[in-house]
Amino acid sequence: MIESPLLQNRQGFVAGAWTSARDGKTFAVHNPATGEQIADVPAMCQEETTAAVEAADASLRHEVPVAQRRGWLEEIERLLLENKPELARVITLEQGKPLKESIVEVDYAAQFFHFFAQHLDQLQAQQLSEHPRGMNWEVHHRPAGVVALITPWNFPLAMLAKKLAPALGAGCAAVVKPAENTPLTCVALWHLLDRLGLPAGRASLVTGEPVAMGEVLCSHPAVRLISFTGSTEVGRVLIAKTAPHVKRLAMELGGNAPFIVMDDADITTAADALMANKFRCSGQTCVCANRVYVQRGIAAAFVEAMASRVSKLKVGNGMDPQTDIGPLINRDGFDKVDRHVADALKRGAKRVVGTDRARPAQEWGAFYSPTVLTGTTSDMLVSREETFGPVVAIGEYESESEAIELANGTPYGLSAYLFTRDDARARRMAAQLRFGHVGLNTATGPTPEAPFGGMKQSGFGREGGVEGLLEFCEPQTVVTP
Ligand code: NAP
Repeated sequence: MIESPLLQNRQGFVAGAWTSARDGKTFAVHNPATGEQIADVPAMCQEETTAAVEAADASLRHEVPVAQRRGWLEEIERLLLENKPELARVITLEQGKPLKESIVEVDYAAQFFHFFAQHLDQLQAQQLSEHPRGMNWEVHHRPAGVVALITPWNFPLAMLAKKLAPALGAGCAAVVKPAENTPLTCVALWHLLDRLGLPAGRASLVTGEPVAMGEVLCSHPAVRLISFTGSTEVGRVLIAKTAPHVKRLAMELGGNAPFIVMDDADITTAADALMANKFRCSGQTCVCANRVYVQRGIAAAFVEAMASRVSKLKVGNGMDPQTDIGPLINRDGFDKVDRHVADALKRGAKRVVGTDRARPAQEWGAFYSPTVLTGTTSDMLVSREETFGPVVAIGEYESESEAIELANGTPYGLSAYLFTRDDARARRMAAQLRFGHVGLNTATGPTPEAPFGGMKQSGFGREGGVEGLLEFCEPQTVVTP
């Protein structure tokens, strides 16, 4: 069992108090590297979720001034940074990623609290200078109300920070449901939030059964917005379930990112960027390159550059400082990656780095050997779906227009990357890529200062930037004679 000063209570947090499931049921959390059961947390259900929503609604009866909300965000940033080593340890123990990546995740999460604290003046009411119809028109940004924040397991702290910081900053009350694989990071976060003296119900944490909790969050009339990060499949379920109740939605869904390397690109820059982008979190990120397209003239050189880099990666327990690649989240994750690689090999791809690895006997300890495939084509699973694993799938193309067609040939539209030394070509191609985030000669992911989100089936709504704050607001126009 994990020992941590940030996990003295292993419970949810509802209406301002640490809370167990009403029936006392719990579920186990495992270390994905070792399979060790590291904690039990409450298996909450509809009743506890309803209590959290109602407490959130009640907390909104007392308006909290912007200055106080800014103070909360600043204090959360400070607490995150002060507790960085311990938070990072909890992330690695329940998620599996290397400790050095968990440290970066805590910094990244803190930056969202910092950014939104600095931008709450954007919420000030504006007076229209035109005075239409000879009257005074003001536009206010009212808090959306009770918001449900549902997060995935790949970045248990950062994916929540993107939502919780603007939600609290905008004056909303949040009910948070983390992924069952990684609830402990949130439990640890609530140990910090508990020191803030937030009004009871302003930020509740419910852990447990996703479908039952989702029913409440999708149908309770007090919930006005659901901000969800996760798979397109579950996003679709939530869209359908909320439709009869007409709720606002922000959907950060799956990706299938293309990474295009033109024949005039700097191969070293492109290969280094792909390494940094592809293997973070063992390849389990929504923004990681899933399909690499290299122009034919430089394909052999690029494959060689990648092969020499990938074969040096060290796979192991994330707590080992030498580790580059931790385990996949569980055996289902392993099976998916393995199925994708087997399908590609069957359809004619070649594996230039990587080995067959026996399916893990247990659910946990799913270490996948970093792999480079060449000759991948659009009909293969590695091209059609998010692989979510340490596999670089490289295909070739001839022309600029073919690259655009291949890249856009997916229902997803989250992020895309393009490498070329020709700036005019880069700009022209970026405009044609149907992705919410485009890296030109960089494969960096999102930042708190800029809006990030998907096109097409990667979702709608934006996180980060002023846009990410306004997601949690309802504009209201007040007109006076
Ligand atoms: P997931 O299976 O869709 O789960 C996401 C969250 O939804 C979890 O908390 C899950 O709970 C919950 N959930 C599942 N069914 C639900 C229901 N019926 N009602 C309410 N909540 C429900 O996704 P994941 O496997 O955790 O995460 C990986 C996916 O997230 C990938 O597709 C990745 O691309 C995407 N992602 C997107 C972004 C982005 O910014 N666009 C960022 C990160 C990840 P349980 O864990 O308890 O099942």
